[in-house]
Amino acid sequence: MVNSIRDNIMEIRAQIAAAAEKSGRGTHEIKLMGVSKYHPLEMMIEASPYVDILGENKVQEAHEKRLGWPVDNKRAWHLIGHLQRNKARKALEVFDLIESVDNLDLARILDRILAESDTAAYPIYIEVNMSGELTKNGVEPCEAESLAERIIEYCPRLSVEGLMTIGPNTDDEAAIRESFVNLRELRDTMRIKTGLSLPELSMGMSGDYKTAIEEGSTIVRIGTSIFGTRIYK
Ligand SMILES: *Cc1c(COP(=O)(O)O)cnc(C)c1O
Repeated sequence: MVNSIRDNIMEIRAQIAAAAEKSGRGTHEIKLMGVSKYHPLEMMIEASPYVDILGENKVQEAHEKRLGWPVDNKRAWHLIGHLQRNKARKALEVFDLIESVDNLDLARILDRILAESDTAAYPIYIEVNMSGELTKNGVEPCEAESLAERIIEYCPRLSVEGLMTIGPNTDDEAAIRESFVNLRELRDTMRIKTGLSLPELSMGMSGDYKTAIEEGSTIVRIGTSIFGTRIYK
C-alpha cells in the first residue's frame, strides 16, 4: 500500500519532533519544507496544508506551477536551486525567498530589480558549499562572511536572513554531521562579525534531516520522503 502525502508528512513531523527532543530543542523551532521539483502541481497543493514552506529548484518549472496555484493559498515558496542571472527577474516574481544566493553579481542584479518596484527587505539566504564538492553550488565557507558584508553594503533591498547548505554526498554519518556543525559555527561567527542575526539554517534533506536537526537546522528540505522518487524526464 502506498502512503498518502499527508501520511508521509505526519511521519516526518513525528521524526522531527523526536530529533528535536533528543537535542533539547522545541519542535516549533524547525520548519518543514516540501520539495516538489519534478512532481506535479496537484501534489504540491495536496501537501501545502501540512508543510510550512514549498521548495522548488528551477525557476521555469516553478513559474509554470505558479500559474495554476490557488490565489488564496498563502504557503511561502522558496527557491533552493541554482539561480542564473537571466532568470533573476522571474525568480523574484515566483518566489517569496531565495535560498541560493552565492555571489555578489547575482545579489546586485536582484537588488537592482527590487529597486524598480521599490521593494525593501526581500529575504535571501546565502548558500554555502560546506563539502567542497565541485558539483555543488554555493560560496566557499571562507568567502561567506565577506559576501554577506558586501551584500549589506551594496544591496540595501536584500535582507540576509540565514545560510543554506546541501550535505555531502556520502553515507558517512560523521562527515555529514561535521558539515552541519561547520555551517552552524560559520553562522555563529558571521553573526558576531556582521551584526546580522541570521536566524535561519536551512540544512537537511530526506537522507540526513535528523542529523541536521540535532545540529541546529531550522528548515529541513524534504522531497523524496514526502512525494516519492522523482522521475527525471
Ligand atoms: C532536491 C533537493 C532537496 C530534497 O531532496 P530529497 O533527498 O528528495 O529530500 C533538498 N534540497 C535541495 C537543494 C534539493 O535540490
